[in-house]
Amino acid sequence: MKKTILYRSLALLLLFTFLLGGLLGCGKDHTTTASTTTKAVPLDEFLYVRILDVGQADGILLSYKDQFMLIDAGNYSSGDRAQYMALLRRYNVDKIDWLILTHPHGDHIGAAVDVLNTYQVKNVMLPDASYSSYAYRNTLQAILNSDADVHLVETDASQEVNTGGEGASLYRAGDEFSWEAVHFRILAPISPDDNVNNASIVLRATYGGVRFLFTGDMESMMERQLLTRFSKEELRADVLKVGHHGSYTSTNQSFLSAVSPRYAAISCGKDNEYGHPHGVILNRLSYIGVQVNRTDLEGTITYVTDGANIVVNTNKNG
Ligand SMILES: [Zn+2]
Ligand SMILES: [Zn+2]
Repeated sequence: MKKTILYRSLALLLLFTFLLGGLLGCGKDHTTTASTTTKAVPLDEFLYVRILDVGQADGILLSYKDQFMLIDAGNYSSGDRAQYMALLRRYNVDKIDWLILTHPHGDHIGAAVDVLNTYQVKNVMLPDASYSSYAYRNTLQAILNSDADVHLVETDASQEVNTGGEGASLYRAGDEFSWEAVHFRILAPISPDDNVNNASIVLRATYGGVRFLFTGDMESMMERQLLTRFSKEELRADVLKVGHHGSYTSTNQSFLSAVSPRYAAISCGKDNEYGHPHGVILNRLSYIGVQVNRTDLEGTITYVTDGANIVVNTNKNG
């Protein structure tokens, strides 16, 4: 029985490699494979998680069968927005089940208005955080004008009756929801903070036996709250989207030890003005033997998983 599963896993890995090579050609693409990360049985469908190359920003595209989910929407400048939309077309996005905006900063909500104006979006999720910017006001207006169902993630201190959330579904840390065969648990925000990075919606996605942790720009203060609220097992993940573009303000040692990832993705711009990712974080990741991939060096990072195996592919052409 064990042998059968092993053969099946190896066959799938070969298939993955073949598929990726065939789909993307050789060129600048680079594929690495990894062995089974869990004892889970492989599932019939592949989940693709793409950390899109959107410069000094976050933009993540999840594809499952012919369904799509977006976590963050890149930068707000017109060039960046056009690039983000081009990437969605490249990956054949035709409608969107979920648009999740982790927090209101311009490098996360960037093309949200374009997405809402271009695609049919079923659900929008955002944190119940107040933030004043032209871009965020426009984004909220576009959400209100759309047909999307709105899902608000509150902090522990949010009022029972939410003023901005009429008709919205309300969530808090610990709540769960599903998208197709992917199961999500909301881990943050927990308590309110003046630093809007700590309003970031943090999600752990589970597909079969494989887990992803999406952190937005959560900083150490919120990471510590997660460590208090959840067990290490509840925080553990195979793939970590490193918080806040690899800034030293995030990914503290205890949090990283709890998550204990095998892969880490850093989304940041080439030669960005913040010096992201910071050396201390790269050292911390390499010390525990995590495979790190960076959008500034390798382009879009794609994780393909069947719920048991993970294959990583990077593509400088987007
Ligand atoms: Zn950011
Ligand atoms: Zn931010």
